[in-house]
Amino acid sequence: MGKESFNGLTFFRGRVGLFSILKGLSIGIGDDVITQAFTCIAVPEAIIATGANPIYVDISENSVTMDANDLAIKITPRTRAIIVQHTFGIPADMDYIIAVANKHSIPIIEDCCHVSYSTYKDKEVGSFGVGSFYSYEWGKPIVAGIGGSVKINANDLYAKVEALRNRMATPTKKRQIRLIAQYMIYSLIYRPLLYWPIKDLFHKMDDLGLVEGNFNQIESNEEIGSDFNLKMARFNEWILLRKIRRGTQFMEHSRRVSSEYKDKINSSVVSHHKIKEGMTVVYARYPLLSKNKHELLKKARTSNVEIADWYKTPIHPLKENECGLVNYIPHSCPNAEALCEQIVSLPVGERVRLSDVNRIISFLNEVQI
Ligand SMILES: *Cc1c(COP(=O)(O)O)cnc(C)c1O
Repeated sequence: MGKESFNGLTFFRGRVGLFSILKGLSIGIGDDVITQAFTCIAVPEAIIATGANPIYVDISENSVTMDANDLAIKITPRTRAIIVQHTFGIPADMDYIIAVANKHSIPIIEDCCHVSYSTYKDKEVGSFGVGSFYSYEWGKPIVAGIGGSVKINANDLYAKVEALRNRMATPTKKRQIRLIAQYMIYSLIYRPLLYWPIKDLFHKMDDLGLVEGNFNQIESNEEIGSDFNLKMARFNEWILLRKIRRGTQFMEHSRRVSSEYKDKINSSVVSHHKIKEGMTVVYARYPLLSKNKHELLKKARTSNVEIADWYKTPIHPLKENECGLVNYIPHSCPNAEALCEQIVSLPVGERVRLSDVNRIISFLNEVQI
């Protein structure tokens, strides 16, 4: 994604963008698509919607991104694409992953839903693969309500994805109105201090079908099918274009907030995630590792401090015993499973003010577990 301009194709959600890239690559029934464990359900949902099978590669030890060695092991003659996720905005080990992919001539698609401006060896993420996809829902670096986009790096693929998009429908009027209302309410009420009550309210309303949730129920296949045929709603697209013009502002804000966290959090209950050489990271959220994640989250909730728990399982937000629904084999990705027990993350978005940052830092430095 260009820093000031936007030259991508928009879709109803990030996952619809991924679905379109996969379709553009003629991937479907009988094919395998590789993705990392420690991801969100949107990714396997899009793979399954094409008729293909998701195959999970573990993350490297002490990292949040794909292990190139495990990737090499999991590739088979049925593998048709590799989705590489830059989790929290931290670039994956592209040199190693590209070497493995090239050896087998398998295209790479980058999952940039957490990232817009990070670089790996001075090259912007999203420019390594045949294409990349982005998401703009609540909790992502740039929030535009529900929406997603793709950037395509290969001309022939662009034409195919664009043609697919042109045949898609716009969400119904009723749905668009609901999306506008939802965005307005979010803009009015969200701030880190209200994270927990808003989260609870959102889940309640989602259960009642009153809002567009982040996740479709995996059981209801019909619902999934219809959403994969949708463009982004006009209003959300309008919000997106306005926000992308202010993208550098977001980047600077994220840098400022995350360097405060990095410099000032020196608590014994959490440790910082180490970034490898050769990357500049613009965080979507700032990750921390905790030995007692559940206790920490409980305390954060009672103190009204925004600390998120994602991802809770290798395929968030499925429960451990539900991950099989999207083809995840229990214990097949031990690093991802271990990370789920430790990882928490802090907000860096535009609504986070210095006073919020200070409150979060004091909470972490003072909390006793
Ligand atoms: C949010 C997210 C997506 C896609 O989200 P949509 O809800 O489809 O816009 C994909 N991958 C990751 C890692 C995400 O966090």
